[in-house]
Amino acid sequence: MSELDQLAAQIRACQRCRLAQTRGQAVPGEGPENAPILLIGEGPGAQEDRQGRPFVGRSGALLEKLLASIGLSRGDVFIANVVKCRPPENRDPLPDEIAACQPYLDRQVELLRPRLILTLGRISMARYFPGQSITRIHGQIRWVDDVGYVPMFHPAAALRNPQWMAAMRADFAQLAPLVAELYPGRSGEPLASAPDDAQQMSLF
Ligand code: SF4
Repeated sequence: MSELDQLAAQIRACQRCRLAQTRGQAVPGEGPENAPILLIGEGPGAQEDRQGRPFVGRSGALLEKLLASIGLSRGDVFIANVVKCRPPENRDPLPDEIAACQPYLDRQVELLRPRLILTLGRISMARYFPGQSITRIHGQIRWVDDVGYVPMFHPAAALRNPQWMAAMRADFAQLAPLVAELYPGRSGEPLASAPDDAQQMSLF
């Protein structure tokens, strides 16, 4: 069993914070161990909690389309969350829950050593861009020690707001050259070919 698999087993048994009492099952994250890109969401929702997998609902469907637009599938990237267990009623995770869960994400980053980290939504953005506003800095890459950190909107927010959907599409599109370096030979199917945002949203 790999170290990432051992970590996932620890997460599934974890009782470090109150979310263990209300979760169906923990969602450690998934993806190849050599994935150059790590996506970090906020926490599992209802469907993720049921299936034990990240981003499997409507947000996941949108994420897969956005990845396809830059030539990737979800199997090319590692997908994790800031907290591994679902907060009740989909509330934001509390600071002590985020702190309790942080060592797991820290260890995932250590083991994966990704070249690009995409934060999805403001909770995961706050970990790398504290005090910033996602509406101001979304899509802007910050390089630290050869690792690129990119704050992105959360797919669920983009599904609620057509303006953010357009911004999220553009933010993914501008990653295409980097993706081509990290995954030689890949090219995407631009979402810009979709007729308009309203029709795009209707796909989900
Ligand atoms: S959210 Fe994290 S710290 Fe809390 S019980 Fe789940 S795995 Fe453990």
